Amino acid sequence: MFRGIQQNPASIEKFHQAVPINSRVNEIYDLHCHSLASDGVLSPYELVKRASAQGVTTLALTDHDTTAGIAEAQWTAETSNIRLISGIELSTTWQGKTFHVVGLNIDHNHPTLLAAAEFLRKIRQERAEQIADKLAKKRIPGALEWVLKSAGEGMVTRTHFASFLVSQFHADSQQDAFDRYLAKGKPAYVATEWADMALSVQWINEAGGVAVLAHPLRYKLTPKWMQRFLTDFKQAGGKGMEVVTGRCSVDDIKWSATYAHNFGLAGSVGTDFHSPGNPWIELGRLAPLPGHIQPVWELFG
Ligand code: AMP
Ligand code: MN
Ligand code: MN
Ligand code: MN
Repeated sequence: MFRGIQQNPASIEKFHQAVPINSRVNEIYDLHCHSLASDGVLSPYELVKRASAQGVTTLALTDHDTTAGIAEAQWTAETSNIRLISGIELSTTWQGKTFHVVGLNIDHNHPTLLAAAEFLRKIRQERAEQIADKLAKKRIPGALEWVLKSAGEGMVTRTHFASFLVSQFHADSQQDAFDRYLAKGKPAYVATEWADMALSVQWINEAGGVAVLAHPLRYKLTPKWMQRFLTDFKQAGGKGMEVVTGRCSVDDIKWSATYAHNFGLAGSVGTDFHSPGNPWIELGRLAPLPGHIQPVWELFG
């Protein structure tokens, strides 16, 4: 909807006064997306080209637990008139629950992060074997071979299992595969102990990055638990949280912005784009960051 307003020259002046920097006609930020290096379907090259075609001016590639796609994205960006921010989305555990922490503007070759990626790759590999065993018990054999082949050199994720289940006609869609088999409480769910949240934030800081809580609404925390989490996150050195995401309502933005404001966290904006063809999610298609929230990109050195 905001794009419509932006494209109408008559309303640009008014729009400009009312809204903050990330919606200015010449600046479009998208600081959360995935490539083939994890569970995205585009190569880093294709992703950056698509972002550029969509008018994105600053893109962060944030694959799950790996920076393997950054080099390709970086050289593509250099010839595509787009600024590429090196990023990662770390899988972390806090109080027994999984939280995703995005690291932005990291040194993607920092030894600490490379070691973290190796550690998380092993966890993912072991979990994949366990998920495949559980599926085999449900008379769905062959999952491990399929997902490892499909992931190739990239991180193997539950999204790969979802694609496998769809390809074998055990689910109608990715969502259906999660709902039937892969989500928490379903037959092929494996509880996973990722890296500790505070430690993960520390890794991002060591690598010169800014740690941002990803999609805060996804965890379905009560206000009390949200406050507990953010207190610990902030104490660990977390600097931001996503305030605007791919499919959020005006109320969602208000909710996240209130927490960001109360905890002194900068606000990030990111679609969490994984693949083309989803009518709801497109690179750079985001509502503006509320004006009273400090944009996270002001923290990039
Ligand atoms: P993993 O980190 O391997 O557990 O996989 C998590 C990824 O699976 C997320 O980043 C999403 O891309 C995807 N995912 C998680 N839950 C769902 C769901 N309910 N429906 C569709 N995709 C999901
Ligand atoms: Mn994903
Ligand atoms: Mn995530
Ligand atoms: Mn993501």
